[in-house]
Amino acid sequence: MSGKHQRRNRRKRVATCIYCGFVGPGLSKEHVVAHALGGTEELLYASCHSCRDVTSNFEADVARHAYGAYRSRHLFPTRRPNERQSDFEVRYVFPDDSFIDERLPIEQYPSVLLALRLPPPGIMTGQSPTSARPAIEVDVIGDGEEIRKVQQRHPAAVGWYLTDAWAQNPELMAWPFVRMLAKIAHVWLHKIVRLEVHEPLLNGIILGTDQNISYLVGGIDGTKLSPPNANEVVVPFITADSEMGFVLNLLPGRLPPYVVIAARPRPPAQA
Ligand SMILES: [Zn+2]
Repeated sequence: MSGKHQRRNRRKRVATCIYCGFVGPGLSKEHVVAHALGGTEELLYASCHSCRDVTSNFEADVARHAYGAYRSRHLFPTRRPNERQSDFEVRYVFPDDSFIDERLPIEQYPSVLLALRLPPPGIMTGQSPTSARPAIEVDVIGDGEEIRKVQQRHPAAVGWYLTDAWAQNPELMAWPFVRMLAKIAHVWLHKIVRLEVHEPLLNGIILGTDQNISYLVGGIDGTKLSPPNANEVVVPFITADSEMGFVLNLLPGRLPPYVVIAARPRPPAQA
């Protein structure tokens, strides 16, 4: 008798779609950080089919396009190991505007990360919600020695470019990335708080119906929060106005920490 009871406790389940509230058959487990980005924490029976389509779409955009080369280089998990890309293209441009595209084996491809720089969440700096999106600024984070080696293959070239989708068009990848941050905070919220007390705020951003992205998701600079330690991936905090937030440290030491406000206290129930 007690064995069955224990088993049920270990397999803690939400039994409601955490995005749209659907209750019924077909709910699937939800990773906090996508499997493709190395996430192992999960929540059981937490997402319906249609919400899963939405979240897996923007996660695939991030995993495949923005961080495809980085994931291959560092052997992040994939459900299709045989399709793991073993070479990536670099475009060299010469003074006469001619160019050549060269495929580099993954060992020689620089493990460069493109890191989105975001202002602090507007809610933390007294801004009003706005659907205006912040200007996109991207930092290139990489190993200088690796980058020099790529340059030296064609010393006459005036420049070379990664062909990762995000390198080509940061706008394309920035918003899937921001929605992925919102999703991570939202799933984590459901792991640790009682929703009778906390009202989740991120459903609309995740499902694409709320455009006020920069109100709840941003960078850590300007928030007065301390940067997390290298071994901390998700750090909860409470704002001065009692909102529940998370600092997300997805690739510690490589990507900057991001800050997401996930919930606010519900008004006390009327007696
Ligand atoms: Zn749903």
